[in-house]
Amino acid sequence: MLNSKNNKGNLIVLSGPSAVGKGTVLRSLLQDYNDISYSVSATTRKPREGEVDGIDYFFMSKDKFKNLVDDGEFIEWAKVHNNYYGTPKNYVKETLAKGKDVILEIDIQGAKQVRDNFSGGVFVFLAPPSLEDLKDRITKRGTESDSVIDLRMENATKELEEAKNYDYLIVNDEVDRAVDKLRSVIIAQRCMIK
Ligand code: 5GP
Repeated sequence: MLNSKNNKGNLIVLSGPSAVGKGTVLRSLLQDYNDISYSVSATTRKPREGEVDGIDYFFMSKDKFKNLVDDGEFIEWAKVHNNYYGTPKNYVKETLAKGKDVILEIDIQGAKQVRDNFSGGVFVFLAPPSLEDLKDRITKRGTESDSVIDLRMENATKELEEAKNYDYLIVNDEVDRAVDKLRSVIIAQRCMIK
């Protein structure tokens, strides 16, 4: 009997420019489906209002982050918009081994490291309908200064060029539709024969 490859969970990597709505899409996905685990990243960025340590990120000092890098505790890590971010290795490995899918929300540099070092991940890029739409979203969020907005827009232009290296492109024109598409990708991955 032919089976889909499902004794181990799938690693799903989601990237996309700042403020494209990754957080909103992910929250909605995870709320509706409890068969997917979110990997909480470590960061040296300061918490934004309302963010909770251990839920949104593991917030830490640069020294602690560097120690974890030296100890090989991250699957990948990168400097993004002047802060460091990394994916803790143990959680991902243990969860996949239990047969549960894990989703990472990481930048393009981190996704490249995962692609190079990990076979079998599925890579999804979430794009805005346009760059103007993106700038509008960052500005409306109101959490960033003008210079940070400029930096994030500069990075977004580079990031959009990277989309071609991903397996799937989802345009976030409407959250529900984007969530449906992401969920469909995850289900398709579970049905793959490998
Ligand atoms: P923010 O500071 O807005 O939460 O996230 C900034 C950027 O860092 C986003 O593009 C997000 O995808 C990325 N990011 C978050 N966690 C990680 C991580 O663990 N590794 C990498 N490489 N990027 C991350």
